[in-house]
Amino acid sequence: MMNSNRLRIAIQKSGRLSKDCQNLLKQLGVKLNLREQRLIAHSTNMPIDVLRVRDDDIPGLVMDGVCDLGIVGENVLVEAQAERAGGTQNAEVIKLSKLDFGYCRLALAWPQELGPQDKSWFEGKRIATTYPEILKQYLQREKISASAVMLTGSVEVAPRAGLADAICDLVSTGATLEANGLMQGDTILESNACLIQNPNLTDSNKLALIDKLMPRLKGVRQAKE
Ligand code: ATP
Ligand code: ZN
Repeated sequence: MMNSNRLRIAIQKSGRLSKDCQNLLKQLGVKLNLREQRLIAHSTNMPIDVLRVRDDDIPGLVMDGVCDLGIVGENVLVEAQAERAGGTQNAEVIKLSKLDFGYCRLALAWPQELGPQDKSWFEGKRIATTYPEILKQYLQREKISASAVMLTGSVEVAPRAGLADAICDLVSTGATLEANGLMQGDTILESNACLIQNPNLTDSNKLALIDKLMPRLKGVRQAKE
């Protein structure tokens, strides 16, 4: 059982954000023993517990108050908020800070052999993505009637596999798109990792600890500039 007096921070267990999250906590002075493959790592010098989970679970854990803070990509956060929009579950978080890692963009792409295309090409097409809600919002905004095909992985092979006409996927260098014979189009969302907080947090000790950590975070970010 977790000690509820301790500030709970959710970070990605293993993936593109893990190392940067661990480094950030270290720079904030939070000492952790992360060597063990445990779900929860207790800080040895502050009343902080770090939960290591899949990035997709982080927004929900923070929205539901299971964790007080979380570090997650804006792409995952925006998708989770759109998923909960209009429902009964809490979809709010406080964005405490944008972070200087995890940069990527969610962009449209289609088979290179088709050559450059404008938005009207997407009319009636099937677009594979892991972010159907963000894609739907974009299509609505641009008044394009196309359908989203949800895939949790291997999105970039969907056109070749005949599963979709195009994709809407995360890109950082564009190397993966190129390797899969895809041409990059419009960026739908630019994303960085960000630090989020449960908006219903009232525990004064936890809030005081966050107040103590935030100037340090600002310092770490400024030192990088
Ligand atoms: P998990 O097992 O935690 O669900 P995942 O496979 O969904 O992991 P990763 O590939 O590790 O996630 O990416 C985590 C986050 O890193 C992304 O949601 C995004 O915010 C960011 N990111 C930065 N660059 C890229 C990139 N080139 N491709 C994908 N994600 C990127
Ligand atoms: Zn994920």
